[in-house]
Amino acid sequence: MPSLRQSYTVTVPEEPAALPLDKADLRRKSPSLSRSMLVSTFMGLIINQAKNKSPQGLVGLRNLGNTCFMNSILQCLSNTPELRDYCLRNTHRTDLNNCRTNAALMEEFAKLTQNLWTSVNESISPSDFRIFPPPIFNSSHLNSLNQDAQEFLRCLLDGLHNEVNRVTACPKVSIKDFDHLSDDEKGKQMWNMYLEREDSKVVDLFVGQLKSSLTCTVCGFRSTVFDPFWDLSIPISQKSSGEVTLKDCLRLFTKEDVLDGDDRPTCKKCKARRKCTKRFSIQKFPQILVLHLKRFSDSNIRATKLSTYVNFPLKELDLREFSSESSERAVYNLYAVSNHCGNALGGHYTAYCRNPALGEWYSYNDSRVSPMSSSQVRSSNAYVLFYELTPSPHSKYQTCRL
Ligand SMILES: [Zn+2]
Repeated sequence: MPSLRQSYTVTVPEEPAALPLDKADLRRKSPSLSRSMLVSTFMGLIINQAKNKSPQGLVGLRNLGNTCFMNSILQCLSNTPELRDYCLRNTHRTDLNNCRTNAALMEEFAKLTQNLWTSVNESISPSDFRIFPPPIFNSSHLNSLNQDAQEFLRCLLDGLHNEVNRVTACPKVSIKDFDHLSDDEKGKQMWNMYLEREDSKVVDLFVGQLKSSLTCTVCGFRSTVFDPFWDLSIPISQKSSGEVTLKDCLRLFTKEDVLDGDDRPTCKKCKARRKCTKRFSIQKFPQILVLHLKRFSDSNIRATKLSTYVNFPLKELDLREFSSESSERAVYNLYAVSNHCGNALGGHYTAYCRNPALGEWYSYNDSRVSPMSSSQVRSSNAYVLFYELTPSPHSKYQTCRL
């Protein structure tokens, strides 16, 4: 098969067979994908190639033996514009200078990202990532079928954050009583307290704040808890049609839940364990919202996998109804998806990413990168969704201190 990269230097071919997607793929994945669209994408790439010498961000990652879960996530992160620029401009070095701990992971991640955006090779090897001990790179993953892209993402972001955390000396722990404050005030105070300890580019981009409201069913007393989150694990709602929308799943995630039996929390007013209702809402929306669709019944055992088709929007995902504050703007556009095909016992990960420079979607299947239509992005394999907040002229709740 002619490679995508080799195709850059040739003229537009007469036969579709010479296009950078093989014909079998074209038939299987998108019967509606027209040749003219492919040619125009192809022409766009040639123009880009002429301007930049090398097509950027279209470099594959070699599979080192069951490492597709890692490759899939690394490609999604590489197509996260602000994180990519942080690495390409070496801004991370400034933060590393403040850091007294080992910074090998951030350096390695930045080097890999730089290579993905500057290499003239068709694919590169992420082998240097293998030197990192668990949980970043869990070598036991290689011998088991239990690799999980979402788990890897969380460990990687956490590891990167710890190395570029601008906070080098944690303030003393002080117990503050926020009970007299309004929920919004309490949320803001909790967020500022979080930033006093955890403050990095990774936090700026990925961390949001979740509000849990607990209501005692005996006395009616309501208490709120605010927790930072790196991603949201969303249950997949079940409908007889077999197809659900992302909002159906988010409504299931935020619907009122009853905590009873062993799960009963202690009510502050009754001063006893009581049956309570619990409800989540989003107090602070992150710049990058990572939604993990809970396809596996248990991420450790992975007994079963749900292959429900979740219909998610590529543009204008409006999440205001899930916000604690009704006024907050929360409109997101999709830019990357980590896919898992196969069953609970094993499978393969790929990534679909919208190239920030070209605005077109590409499929990243280990070392192979190929253009795709945006109509192919939704599938029942979608596992981790990456959304970016659209700019708002009046955003009052940014990642800075309040
Ligand atoms: Zn009570």
